[in-house]
Amino acid sequence: MRDATKIIRSTLTRAVPGTPLHEGPVFAAPYHTPGDPADTPYTYARSHNPSWTALERAIGQMESGELASGAKYRASALVFASGMAAVTAVFGAVLRPGDVVVLQSNAYFAARVLLQEYFAKMGVKVRMTETLGIEQVSLLEGARLLWIETPSNPTMDVCDIAALTEAAHRAGALVAVDNTTPTPLGQLPLALGADFSVASDTKAMTGHSDILLGHVAVRDLELRAKIDQWRTLTGGILGPMEAWLALRSIATLPLRLERGCENAQRIAEFLLTRNQVESVLYPGLPSHPGHAIAIRQMRYFGPVLSFVLRDKAAAETFLSKATLITEATSFGSVTTTAERRARWGGDAIAEGFIRMSAGCEAVEDLIEDMAQALDAIR
Ligand SMILES: *Cc1c(COP(=O)(O)O)cnc(C)c1O
Repeated sequence: MRDATKIIRSTLTRAVPGTPLHEGPVFAAPYHTPGDPADTPYTYARSHNPSWTALERAIGQMESGELASGAKYRASALVFASGMAAVTAVFGAVLRPGDVVVLQSNAYFAARVLLQEYFAKMGVKVRMTETLGIEQVSLLEGARLLWIETPSNPTMDVCDIAALTEAAHRAGALVAVDNTTPTPLGQLPLALGADFSVASDTKAMTGHSDILLGHVAVRDLELRAKIDQWRTLTGGILGPMEAWLALRSIATLPLRLERGCENAQRIAEFLLTRNQVESVLYPGLPSHPGHAIAIRQMRYFGPVLSFVLRDKAAAETFLSKATLITEATSFGSVTTTAERRARWGGDAIAEGFIRMSAGCEAVEDLIEDMAQALDAIR
């Protein structure tokens, strides 16, 4: 079965005459639990909920695949209240005082701050590196965890998941990939050898700018148990309504991602032709330094692109003149959004740096709108 079919089928319940095609959200705190709790599939909703189970089955199926060796594997996914709750679960389940974690200095801002402000102060050693290529392999010596984000956000750096994972495993480290930008439909970290595929499903996975969601997917059942225990103990869980909305949204992921990525590619190519634009960062462009790796490990290059205008004023003019581009943070929605990224601080980027997320609109409209907004820059 092809992905689109598989994903849509995975969101359905078992066909029972007279019941809905999709089960509604299950609202519960405790469930009826007579006698030995081991005989009851659901006992208390901080540990499990049928609405998560349906969503986790769909995401787990998407994260499943085939390793380079040809061995097929089945992934299991655990859902969280947000991407950061999922990120925290991996850090919390894996890292102990004295452990070393290696990550890029351009990894997602909140993940970096969490490590530096909390985990480092509890004795975890944080090794940051500006770029993460095979040249940085010596950093993995004695490491417990390698954290990869590719394409990284917002600078769209690409790193080689398979090569880095192999090196990390040789050094005895586990590997987690923040796969938020491409989604498992665009890139499968577990198939490339990683131990954890982590994502903020707030972005393209659910794609309507209306819910926060995160997940961790693994191949290994021991790692699964650790993440599950972390979730139950810390209680960073999502509500059944969010789980239900997410499952509904995921059915259209193939459509949305295909269109969003196609639009991102067309927009990136358009921006390259404009003299107001100093540079364009998109892994789908042959000029992108990570293009060759991206072709190898990604099925879609993602809906996010970044570009640099002359300065802050130029970026602000562009954003205020563009009428079809909603100024907002976050990405991966059906609506095209963009923002001047430096307004947040914390990333080493130019004042005129814009991160854009291509939506599912007709791309001709978007390009016409961007052309007039660029023309307005003096
Ligand atoms: C947004 C994002 C997160 C955090 O996700 P939330 O759902 O906002 O908690 C983590 N990693 C990346 C790459 C992100 O873009």
